Amino acid sequence: MAKKKNLKVDVVTIFPDIVEPYLQASILKRGQQAGVLKLAAYDLRAWTSDKHKTVDDKPFGGGPGMVMQVGPFHRALTSLRVRTKEGKKSATAKKTRVILTSAKGKIFTQRDAERLSKYDRLVFLCGRYEGVDERVAKHLADEELSIGEYVLTGGELPALVMTDAVARLIPGVLGKAESLVMESHTVSGELEYAQYTRPEKYLVQKKAKGKKQKMWDVPDILLSGDHKKIEEWRRKKS
Ligand code: SAM
Repeated sequence: MAKKKNLKVDVVTIFPDIVEPYLQASILKRGQQAGVLKLAAYDLRAWTSDKHKTVDDKPFGGGPGMVMQVGPFHRALTSLRVRTKEGKKSATAKKTRVILTSAKGKIFTQRDAERLSKYDRLVFLCGRYEGVDERVAKHLADEELSIGEYVLTGGELPALVMTDAVARLIPGVLGKAESLVMESHTVSGELEYAQYTRPEKYLVQKKAKGKKQKMWDVPDILLSGDHKKIEEWRRKKS
């Protein structure tokens, strides 16, 4: 029998309280209950040694804002037993991917979600402030990913977006009906078609003095019962 695919995701952040609720709700929660996902957020400040739990400092060469230091990230990965690209080549290291969230990284796509779903473990490093000391990208992270061409205040939302997109590809995370839709329309690279549900006619505005009745209808083809035509229509709409 084929081995069940499991995915472990660790998010290293100075705001685990933002990340945890999303990891422990809805479909991600269900995936963990089904035993195919293991998701956790870790407080980067746990790997500091001063009384203020400092994770940042001024940039060398001057400039605005603060930069996150390499030390806490390095100690976090060591303590979480993540072999980084510097010291690896072992089989477990190859099954782990360390991802630095970064506005200047490669834009994350569905193809990346599929690629990352093949790993056993993903570790997301979340930046804040003016960004992260470049040595994290150079020596610790396997890749830098961005979720879009805009700048957010931190890497927590990007880590959650990517975790969500990858987790739903792990068998057993989605229900059967949901994964059938996904297999036929997303993994192939096509976007999903337009979808409708009840009511067939949604009454937007009742007929009243001086006003016409206004309805939003479901396309007739979807109510026709002609599955071949419905398939064609969906392909066109995807
Ligand atoms: N000065 C940095 C720059 O121009 O790239 C922006 C730093 S941003 C305020 C702080 C952190 O948010 C980044 O280190 C990164 O972890 C995260 N971040 C911001 N925008 C992002 C995006 N579009 N995709 C992924 N991570 C992002």
